[in-house]
Amino acid sequence: MQRAQQILQDTFGYNEFRHHQSDIIKALLTGEDALVLMPTGGGKSLCYQLPALIRQGTGVVVSPLIALMQDQVEALNELGVRAAYLNSTLDAETQRQTEQQLLNGELTLLYVAPERLLTERMLSLLSQTELALFAIDEAHCVSQWGHDFRKEYQQLGVLQQRFPKVPRIALTATADKRTRQEIIQQLNLGNAAVFVNSFDRPNIRYTISEGQNAKQRLWSFIQQYHSQDAGIIYCLSRKKVEQTAAWLCEKGRDALAYHAGMPAEVRQSHQQRFLREDGVIIVATIAFGMGIDKPDVRFVAHLSLPKSIEAYYQETGRAGRDGSAANAWMAYGLNDVITLRKMMQDSDGEEQYKRIAHHKLDAMLGLCELTTCRRQTLLEYFDDQLEAPCGNCDTCLSPPETWNGTEAAQKALSCVVRTGQRFGVNYVIDVLSGEENERIEKFQHNQLSTYGIGKDLNNSEWRGVFRQLIALGYLDVDLEGYGGLRLSEQARPLLRGEIVLQLRHQQKDVSGTAGSKKSKKKALRSVDEELFSALRDLRTSIAKEHGVPPYIIFHDSTLQEMANSRPDSLDAMRYISGVGEQKLKKYGSDFLNVIQAHPLAEILNNNFSDTVNETLHHYSQECDVERIAQQRNIKLSTVYGHLAEAIAGGFLEVRKVVDLGDAEFNEIVNALEMVDDGEDNLPQQKRLKAIFDALDQSYDYGVLKCVQASL
Ligand SMILES: [Zn+2]
Repeated sequence: MQRAQQILQDTFGYNEFRHHQSDIIKALLTGEDALVLMPTGGGKSLCYQLPALIRQGTGVVVSPLIALMQDQVEALNELGVRAAYLNSTLDAETQRQTEQQLLNGELTLLYVAPERLLTERMLSLLSQTELALFAIDEAHCVSQWGHDFRKEYQQLGVLQQRFPKVPRIALTATADKRTRQEIIQQLNLGNAAVFVNSFDRPNIRYTISEGQNAKQRLWSFIQQYHSQDAGIIYCLSRKKVEQTAAWLCEKGRDALAYHAGMPAEVRQSHQQRFLREDGVIIVATIAFGMGIDKPDVRFVAHLSLPKSIEAYYQETGRAGRDGSAANAWMAYGLNDVITLRKMMQDSDGEEQYKRIAHHKLDAMLGLCELTTCRRQTLLEYFDDQLEAPCGNCDTCLSPPETWNGTEAAQKALSCVVRTGQRFGVNYVIDVLSGEENERIEKFQHNQLSTYGIGKDLNNSEWRGVFRQLIALGYLDVDLEGYGGLRLSEQARPLLRGEIVLQLRHQQKDVSGTAGSKKSKKKALRSVDEELFSALRDLRTSIAKEHGVPPYIIFHDSTLQEMANSRPDSLDAMRYISGVGEQKLKKYGSDFLNVIQAHPLAEILNNNFSDTVNETLHHYSQECDVERIAQQRNIKLSTVYGHLAEAIAGGFLEVRKVVDLGDAEFNEIVNALEMVDDGEDNLPQQKRLKAIFDALDQSYDYGVLKCVQASL
């Protein structure tokens, strides 16, 4: 294992193993088989790449995803590892060469598609070669109940018969208990050591916001938190995909559409641009994403509600694979709920299929309407327990206020009954609010006892009530598809007053995914932004030159660490996570040059806290204290307090910071000296208070602090 640790550091540039990586590697090194369930972004590939580097012979990786193969091989070559792939995209000559390399024992890793591996030709080629291990990626494809079923996967059991001495490792990021059993059975992994990781993706912040104007809210979310980041936006229909992409382009972002109705080569080129350029947004139907392993997708947004929690988890899981903070943002509203409910009922599948689909949608809607931690519920769905609320989802960060909605719900339900259980939401709300219009008059619904009994809530509040009643299953949407509402069985006890219904308050400002800015700030201080963007530019140009995606050169998190710690030599750079020997040799000095070309301003070269430096950074750009307070959204005296630290440290000249005439300045200095003479050991705060009072409270505390700091 010492060797493994060494390779982790030298080749991959990481200091420590994550999750069960080290146990898994240990198992393979001793020749055992392994089954690994690990969430995306957990570092699955390292589990077989590293043992393949240590064991004699070639490691053979079975993968169904061609794009992913190419990606991994490029990444390995960058690290100086000899890797290649064999799939249908290669011409005959390249294939022949690769096979020859394999026979010569020149490959550490070979990626193969399952249908190719199972050919007699390939199997006999492998039997003439020394093999380090077999890795079967995306092992859940073996399950015929799953959505990624591949027939060839069921035949991979043959590997054990043909190569009984070669250890095998099967890996997947999505497998419930039943699928797990199937994998073990079909792949003959009865003796394998099983490693199950938590499905938790702690770096992803989940936000599900309700209400109208989803597009507008999406835009302010992107503007505020991801103005330059790559992201994926999911929509339900092709039309919406195209409209949204065009709309984002108008707003000045690089946004590309992706859906099954587009010509294959356009889709391909959009995917390539998303992978190879910085800051591209893909707007897609759910068809996009399988086999995309871009680590620096910083946000995934849903403009349409996914049909199940599995789909939501899988799609949001494409964010933040590099482990850095990422956002999963979703907007949903009354219309989404109605559309999906209707779709579910209209679909002409078998009854059993419908029931399952219905149940899954219920769980998804339940997640949306939660007033408790989203992550806990999400993980519970996968039989995974999270002890305490996560603190990194919208309901944890700003707990939704709830109100006793029993009476409102009763009014809503009675009005649905009184109007004959055949009208849609808008009409029922009109009746509740006592609107006067032709339709209501025609049906004489202004004569009903429920007419006008809902004036205490406004239109959007009523929409919130109905959304929740439908989402929580008290109201059904009719089968004929006109959107008429009908009471469900569940509604009776509520109408009779036997249960109390707590409803969510409409969120006032939902665009502010509170705190996510903070977690981003942690990764990148504003003082380092300029350098970071210069490092990114360098990365882009190197990536273009090599014809690989930028993240294959360095991950964002590696560049952030460089910007933050500003190494001044190749030796220092070696300690940056993600910089291995090979990359240090190839790119180290180029990146070092960029760092040296962006020296930290004299005033920022200090040991003060991040928040003080943030203020100093602002100050170095414009010396207006009030504007800094505004921009940073902190108190004026806090800004002065930060500047006082810099004054005390000799970084700033007090008279430049505080706007005082000679007389005023001297007055403060005198007052300070007098208080000093009076009482010796007065605590700082009391001392300032005394001066504050002695000067008739005419100067800001912060100003006094600054003057004091200069003495
Ligand atoms: Zn939470």
